[in-house]
Amino acid sequence: MTLPEHVSVFVVGAGFGGLAAAIQLDESGARDFLVVDRGDEVGGTWRDNTYPGATCDVPSQLYSFSFALNPDWSRSFSPQPEIQAYLRRIAETSGVLDRFRFGVSLTGAVWDEDLKLWQLETTAGCLTAEVLVAAGGALSEPKSPAIDGLADFAGAVFHSARWNHEYDLAGKRIAVIGTGASAIQIVPEIAKTAERVDVYQRTAPWVLPRRDRPISRAERFAFRHVPGAQRLARGLIYWGREATAPIFTLQPSLGRVAQRAAIKNISRSITDPAQRSRVTPNFVLGCKRVLISNDWYRALARDNVELITDGIARVTANSIVTGDGLSHEVDAIVIATGFQPTEMPLAQHIVGKDGASLSARWAEHGMQAYKGATVAGFPNLFFIVGPNTGLGHSSMVLMIESQVAYLVDAVKTMRRSGLASVEVEPARLGAFNDRLQRRMKRTVWSRGGCQSWYLDDHGRNVTLWPRSTFTFRAVTARFDIAAYRCTPRVPTGQAGTSVRAGYRPR
Ligand code: NAP
Repeated sequence: MTLPEHVSVFVVGAGFGGLAAAIQLDESGARDFLVVDRGDEVGGTWRDNTYPGATCDVPSQLYSFSFALNPDWSRSFSPQPEIQAYLRRIAETSGVLDRFRFGVSLTGAVWDEDLKLWQLETTAGCLTAEVLVAAGGALSEPKSPAIDGLADFAGAVFHSARWNHEYDLAGKRIAVIGTGASAIQIVPEIAKTAERVDVYQRTAPWVLPRRDRPISRAERFAFRHVPGAQRLARGLIYWGREATAPIFTLQPSLGRVAQRAAIKNISRSITDPAQRSRVTPNFVLGCKRVLISNDWYRALARDNVELITDGIARVTANSIVTGDGLSHEVDAIVIATGFQPTEMPLAQHIVGKDGASLSARWAEHGMQAYKGATVAGFPNLFFIVGPNTGLGHSSMVLMIESQVAYLVDAVKTMRRSGLASVEVEPARLGAFNDRLQRRMKRTVWSRGGCQSWYLDDHGRNVTLWPRSTFTFRAVTARFDIAAYRCTPRVPTGQAGTSVRAGYRPR
């Protein structure tokens, strides 16, 4: 596969973020872009997470692009294959796929201050780009636990995000490590056919009932044929979700009603008081991601499922040994221990104008960006799903669209104003993050009494947005050029230019 020598915009990642960026750039007239992805098709996390029971825990009506609603969702919470099929369909019908290259990874990106370009190295060759967009997603790098002996286990071991479909779990003894959003969907499914499932719980999660139902044919007909019907349904769900934002961002005690519903959810399925107490969390609802399920507790109550809360001491060739000295023999281990959202893996490959990598920069101060989008010292670099753009209460697709709007406006502004580079002022970046972190102190993620993956090693929340989605939309609605140091483009061939030979501005 050959790549062009130069593109205006180079996007890394072809999930929801990269796909939205491509479609919106194209729509805006900025058609000279390239999207690369290490996978073999679009979808990102929805392409990679194919574990049994994988289903979105955000309502379907909110889990699609606002510019490409899907009237055909079959249920109020969509299963993974439907979301993947939706993304595939949108990619195919949007006319942008000719600028996607699959099976290609970015291995290096160095800002060239003289040429005002990114010098890019990929597994398919080198090229330059004016603008680099990191849309690799926050949940793309599986995190494996550091457990003694895990590498020596003789049976099958795989991460929930890299499911081994060749391995038949029926009739086997399976260990599942973790009780997060992935595990609570996996366990009820595999317990139906496995001989035994041992669930290793480090921290009990809060789990609310999932109000799931099929979307009727009449509703689907209305969504397709009645103008505004689906927008109305989406709007109602959107505002219903937005009304819960203060539980997370302002006043955790507002979540007491939901916490009571979660406790009822436990008592409905689990009768043994000791087991009830082991699955009841010891932190405030919302501090970790609130999970939804109608079959998690029922699965834990099954005869062939055992909840193990003693920590894992080590793994042997055929068993897991817990802190109490017991050895639990298993045939396979499913690692459902999540991802590495506080360390953006791409950051180690991106080198800014002072020669330091983005990961080295963030190692000093923690991951941070101006409006989740840009970093001082890294001109013309934009993130989709950047630092502090995640949510506890609603759909990431809303946040992604806001970030894409900011990117597209930036690219348009650069073109209109003849700018070669834009770099956020360090003071603006600092002030933005100081305000954001001050606000973070009020949130349930800081006050709820838990240790979550939202926090980095310094205890700073670098992943979530501590306000409403509409505030984020307002914050990112326009590329605010006044916050940036701008360098005008020097026309090719003019005395004193430092533009590289053969480079043609587009
Ligand atoms: P997760 O929420 O980070 O859960 C990881 C689980 O593994 C936690 O129970 C954690 O315990 C446990 N764990 C981690 N390290 C461990 C260790 N060394 N020993 C024992 N247990 C360990 O990961 P996830 O379930 O894959 O979900 C990650 C995120 O993906 C979610 O929060 C959500 O945003 C997204 N997701 C979304 C959906 C969806 O439907 N939209 C579905 C799946 C995932 P502690 O709590 O003690 O750390």
